[in-house]
Amino acid sequence: MSQQQFENFTASSLYCEKCKTAMPVRERLLLVLPDREIFNYLCTGCGSSVGQREITAGDKLTAQAMIRRRPRRGPTQTLLH
Ligand SMILES: [Zn+2]
Repeated sequence: MSQQQFENFTASSLYCEKCKTAMPVRERLLLVLPDREIFNYLCTGCGSSVGQREITAGDKLTAQAMIRRRPRRGPTQTLLH
């Protein structure tokens, strides 16, 4: 679970070993799996890979749920009962 550290932030710059400094990165879709998508981060300076990020299906569902309006719990529940 070492990838977890990348899960909760969107990287805009990462440390690049070739450039010896934090560089702006490009996000690139590397691999699409049934339950996750893996993104690769490329240094905009030298083009080398400086990190990866994994987005699981669960994360995507959470993101979608945040976009959608939350259904309010209300009197309808008691009516259905
Ligand atoms: Zn670089």
